[in-house]
Amino acid sequence: MKISFHGADQNVTGSCHLVECAGKRILIDCGMYQGGRELREENAEPFGFEPSSIDFLLLTHAHLDHCGRIPLLAKRGFKGELITTAASVELARLVMLDSAGLQEEEALYQARKAKRRHGNNKRKIEPLYTTMDALNCLECIGRRARYDQPLQLAPGIHATFIDAGHILGSASILLELEEGEHRHRLLFSGDLGYSGRAILRDPATPPQVDTVVMETTYGDRLHKQLQPSIDELYDVVNETIGRGGNVIIPTFALERAQEVLYYLREGVENGRIEHFTNVFLDSPMAISATEIFERHPECFNAETLKLASDGSDPFAMAGLHFTRETFASMALNRIDGGAVIMAGSGMCTGGRVRHHLKHNLWGKHNSIVFVGYAANGTPARQIIDGAEHVRIYGEDIPVRANIHTIGGFSAHADQAELLAWHQQTGNPKTTFLVHGEDRSMHAFAKKLKNTQVEMPVLHQEYELG
Ligand code: ZN
Repeated sequence: MKISFHGADQNVTGSCHLVECAGKRILIDCGMYQGGRELREENAEPFGFEPSSIDFLLLTHAHLDHCGRIPLLAKRGFKGELITTAASVELARLVMLDSAGLQEEEALYQARKAKRRHGNNKRKIEPLYTTMDALNCLECIGRRARYDQPLQLAPGIHATFIDAGHILGSASILLELEEGEHRHRLLFSGDLGYSGRAILRDPATPPQVDTVVMETTYGDRLHKQLQPSIDELYDVVNETIGRGGNVIIPTFALERAQEVLYYLREGVENGRIEHFTNVFLDSPMAISATEIFERHPECFNAETLKLASDGSDPFAMAGLHFTRETFASMALNRIDGGAVIMAGSGMCTGGRVRHHLKHNLWGKHNSIVFVGYAANGTPARQIIDGAEHVRIYGEDIPVRANIHTIGGFSAHADQAELLAWHQQTGNPKTTFLVHGEDRSMHAFAKKLKNTQVEMPVLHQEYELG
């Protein structure tokens, strides 16, 4: 029995872990590296194992950094069974197809750039994978996992998906392994959410195991409280609309967009926000994701489920408009005030939000509200850090709008919640820390007691014993 690590090692992206037992090879996640150029180039490197040798691919959830290299895995020969929850199947399809489109665009852009520089460039620039590759990999989708119901992968090998409360359909995965006399219980945390959030249930209590592989995204810090963040959102909306401005919310298409919609709807219902406030969800991907949410009430917490079963839509309010078409999105540029516009990308590196920033950043009466993580070097980070101008579509746009960063919305458990989760796994002999920056991982390692802590490097292999 062996485990080896092929992504998200001392890093927050590219999750990919391989388990070998009784002649079977089981991959947990196959995510994309995201971030700077060097990291992105990692994606095209060999996986560190032969894709055609993998029997099963278990997907914890549909974020790109967990599913983004699956089309490439299939393109390079993976023919095994992909198992995940029904909600993750739909979300991962959306995420992988979107990613394929972006890869194709990027390859075209690079080809044009090379041609400009070197004249008639003969070197063909291939995308990492194409839309066709993403469609082809869907053929590998097999059984749908239900929470807490063990699935047999092979005699003596079982996988159980456990609600991780991170995004719709997300799971931790328990592997029960048998090889001769040797038995081993191995738990992958996946990305963990935390208790008391909207829409999703709290993460389920994890089982007691021999080995844990766990994420450490926020292993070194504690979150702000959620309720003050929701109050702040309502205040910004009311104040901005009261003075005739627009509120622009750069938002991630998955989970955050639905969460913000949920709170805005609640705000309208509780009289915290004006009835018929115009809210535009201006992102085809976020609109599709919202429709997928509506199809999966089995993932909702009791409150959201009650709303859905009473026939009301947890993500809709009187003034809500979905703008899927480009012309409808462009029409938003003419709105002078009174609108809340949610658009991607969350870090303003691309997507429709850049148009909205161009038209609203310079206006003192407008507000830009950041509700998610903003990495260094992104326009979102520049604006948050107080830049006087930002460059958008080749123009320097002065930043005069009110800038708000609302820090309490997070899909990840913080240090205290990660620790509490780990404690419930019953003193595992070994704990592998993954999916965290160096500082976060080391801070979290110091907090762990009665377990051997390992922080694997890329392609490192361990015996499970
Ligand atoms: Zn995630």
